[in-house]
Amino acid sequence: MTGYDTIFALSTAPGRSGIAVVRISGPGSRAALSALGGPGDPKARHASLVDLKSPEEGETIDRALVLWFPRPHSFTGEDVAEFHLHGGPVVVRAALEALAGQDGLRPAEPGEFTRRAFDNGKLDLTEVEGLADLIAAETEAQRRQALRQMRGALSALTEDWRHRLLAALAQVEAAIDFPDEDLPPDGWIQAKDLVLELKNDISQYLGQSPIGERLRDGYQIAIVGAPNVGKSSLLNALARREAAIVAETAGTTRDVIEVHLDLGGYPVTLADTAGLREEIDGTPERPEQPDADTIGAVEIEGMRRARLRAESADLKLVVADFRDWPNLDPGVEALIDETAVLVLNKLDLAPVSGSPGADRYRGRPLFAVSAREGTGLGGLLDHLRDLVTGDLGVSGSAPSLTRVRHRRALEECRDGLDRFLAAAEVALAAEDLRLAIRALGRITGRVDVEDLLDVIFKDFCIGK
Ligand code: GDP
Repeated sequence: MTGYDTIFALSTAPGRSGIAVVRISGPGSRAALSALGGPGDPKARHASLVDLKSPEEGETIDRALVLWFPRPHSFTGEDVAEFHLHGGPVVVRAALEALAGQDGLRPAEPGEFTRRAFDNGKLDLTEVEGLADLIAAETEAQRRQALRQMRGALSALTEDWRHRLLAALAQVEAAIDFPDEDLPPDGWIQAKDLVLELKNDISQYLGQSPIGERLRDGYQIAIVGAPNVGKSSLLNALARREAAIVAETAGTTRDVIEVHLDLGGYPVTLADTAGLREEIDGTPERPEQPDADTIGAVEIEGMRRARLRAESADLKLVVADFRDWPNLDPGVEALIDETAVLVLNKLDLAPVSGSPGADRYRGRPLFAVSAREGTGLGGLLDHLRDLVTGDLGVSGSAPSLTRVRHRRALEECRDGLDRFLAAAEVALAAEDLRLAIRALGRITGRVDVEDLLDVIFKDFCIGK
């Protein structure tokens, strides 16, 4: 697109690698390509082997593959050239320096290639988000969802809704603008039928559990319980058994430690609140010998924070010491609700029988484990995997709303449709419908009135 600078950047991860890809996008791409020794008249979408040269010294930088994507058939919609270099940091640096020395070229800002793809209509907002999610995906289910969104599943759904609403609006507009024309007199009523049908579809969509967002953000499991029952040990033991994607070490200022697990292809964030005590214990103000009151206060605060964390979690593992079973502390009892799984830890310290004698407690699943020895962890993990798969694995083929902003926009749209249906006057109704359409358009980032004009003139051959 004219008026844009030409940008360049290393598009593969920095560091040493077999190959490193440097991408150039913009009107100066072809000139830059030939200045560095590439073909003057490159063949579209063909790879050529080139001795890349520094334009100043004429020294060969690398023998590289060069690809040329003339606009508009490129990722950004602009002229794009790609250099596939050998992935040594010095090679890459020399190539980037050579490009920086070219007139009209500058290093790209973060996300600028994708921004240009959006500006040039190559990707809409949901596709941009899908691409970002695909790159960030940590599990198979996340990858599948992101790929679906990047390939336009969510856009197709919302665009379909939007076009149907535009058709309804066209009828309402016509009823306002051309009252004397030979139009169906019941245009507004027909529009209401259409809108009602669509509003029901949208409400149903909004009524589904927010699987898409959970899949993107991870299923949240909080580990709660009194201090010293083995919460951190349990977190570590579970993380070691499964593929722990990211193990964040306890920072001194954090009061929650998290690990990201891959359970059956689904992302799970396992959070432990045990850091709280370490954090407080580590502060310089701590008296050498804390009195009983201080410890009590710390524990109460710990439980309070644990409870807060647990409230926002999808599931909580309530941990208690096996040796206290079945006389659980009232604080622990209070944590057992419909999202709880009770874990009795330190089974290895249990008296000889070593069985809780039940697999449920107050209607909730009960597991006896030893975080230290690993006993019982397999059964607990199987259970968690079943729960997560059951909750997240039912998305079917309909595209998911993966971000709060999708949900908000859809709610706004639904509210506009409600107002439209309740409106007593046609001009007001039309305005509510326009607002609802705008809200939908914000999901894909395609909000313009040209579409509306197209629909009006296509569907109603007014002919004057
Ligand atoms: P938290 O305060 O609840 O996070 O508890 P920790 O994980 O820090 O564990 C408290 C103490 O219990 C530590 O000394 C652990 O080594 C010990 N511990 C944790 N799990 C087990 C277990 O399964 N068996 C035994 N014998 N000790 C354990």
